[in-house]
Amino acid sequence: SGLATRRATESSSSSSSALKEMEEVQFAESEALVPAGVANDLVPEALVWAALHGFVVGDRSVASSGTTPGVGMAHVPFSLLPTPIPATAFAQAVELSSLFNDLIDRVSLDVDFLKQALARTQKADDFTARLLSMYSTILDEGVKQDIRLGLSRSDYMLDVATGDLLQVELNTISCSYPGLGSVVSDLHKYLVTELESSTKLDSSRVPENKVTEGFAKALSLAWKEYGNKSAAILMVVQGEEWNMYDQHWLSYRVKELYGIRVIRKTLAQVHAQGSITADGMLVIDGQAVSVVYYRSGYTPADYPSEVEWEARLLMERSSAVKCPSISYHLVGAKKIQQELALPGVLERFVPDKQVAASLRKCFAGLWGLEGAESESIIQTAIKEPHRFVLKPQREGGGNNTYGDDVASKLTELIAAGGDGLAAYILMQRIFPAVHTSYLVRRGAYSAEKTVSELGIFGAYVRNGDRVILNEQSGHLLRTKVSHSNEGGVASGYAVLDSPYLS
Ligand code: ADP
Ligand code: MG
Ligand code: MG
Repeated sequence: SGLATRRATESSSSSSSALKEMEEVQFAESEALVPAGVANDLVPEALVWAALHGFVVGDRSVASSGTTPGVGMAHVPFSLLPTPIPATAFAQAVELSSLFNDLIDRVSLDVDFLKQALARTQKADDFTARLLSMYSTILDEGVKQDIRLGLSRSDYMLDVATGDLLQVELNTISCSYPGLGSVVSDLHKYLVTELESSTKLDSSRVPENKVTEGFAKALSLAWKEYGNKSAAILMVVQGEEWNMYDQHWLSYRVKELYGIRVIRKTLAQVHAQGSITADGMLVIDGQAVSVVYYRSGYTPADYPSEVEWEARLLMERSSAVKCPSISYHLVGAKKIQQELALPGVLERFVPDKQVAASLRKCFAGLWGLEGAESESIIQTAIKEPHRFVLKPQREGGGNNTYGDDVASKLTELIAAGGDGLAAYILMQRIFPAVHTSYLVRRGAYSAEKTVSELGIFGAYVRNGDRVILNEQSGHLLRTKVSHSNEGGVASGYAVLDSPYLS
């Protein structure tokens, strides 16, 4: 509707009172937490808070912010106020976190399962093939590290028709917002507290979010297990990164709370400056590294040449703790999510029937596309494409196919023949409840009809048979306009948000 997309005001500080009144009337019946007039007054306060608390991204297009540190600076796109989420659904997602952490670890150890599940996919997808071939190389040479570090984010949407909490995907590499996730929760707690005297809002409904501390703790525990006091944590980054401050928040907490050095290198720099000592230790530019934390390496674009693949292999071969290891990375493939959903497969990894049942409860409909048994679901998806999402083995947003395009893409793939279909999975499309939110971008807000995706961060540290840490570290809500298919914040579709428990 025009209402949903209309920009309420171009500048946070210069809206006319006539415009305010009009908005108040139009939104009176909507689900917004406060009327537009209140929101309008709150925006400048939110922006000041953002500036004071490092709620920023490196935005190349903001020329006036200068060239240091090379990518400019702008406030994070955010939802002015938190978005209502049922407290029961939130609790359910939090409960699932340690179960998924454990599942990732178990699946990562089943070589035959990983290889079989991805056997067809690798024929159709070069990137998956490349990761699998590195996995085989490492297995052949012998895995040199028993310490395992998992920093994951499981994402959910609430299906409006059934009320079910359904998992969108499980991320095992380079999960975004362990830094800014805490900051947006703090912002919302602050703003809701400000509104408590004049509205019915209650700041205790904005859950505390200590994800930055949680991930810092996990990194420090892996570092401690490795046992080299002079070693650093290596953050593998992209050359230029919009979301760099999210990463710096985490580095900063690691340094502040644990006194551990964190260095940042691109894959190309690791290649140029890295080596492995005779006893397997990773050394970058003279600095011993005991933990490698990837915020890069999840997309083919991160490997423009063989150099980057060699760097990844070098790190994988070393005794450093990798977050993720190549096997943890593979467990996060969408194909693995779909295979685990097949009857009896999840249950092979989770012998406890109750645990398996609670995990399965959040599985949406998922279908593989290879083999004769997939013909009927493909026909259904071509007839009713709006009920499905078509997903390749990619991360980072912007890669899926929705709506009518699902039908045309499937038709194309069938016509092309060969293994092409095996690169994809089909997923039931989830339709979440629509709220009215005030989205703040580039200093201006607009009232929008929105849907939200809840992410729960999980941290897992294990050394051989000893589980050192398995916990839920915090959460993140991402909110987007309801008519948009995709959801990433960095890819420009969504804004950062936090839950308001209802
Ligand atoms: P990526 O690894 O690129 O983040 P996702 O599977 O999370 O891939 O898909 C990207 C976005 O697409 C999600 O954040 C969500 O907004 C939307 N999306 C994905 N799967 C579904 C689904 N089954 N139903 C509705 N929206 C979906
Ligand atoms: Mg995602
Ligand atoms: Mg993902």
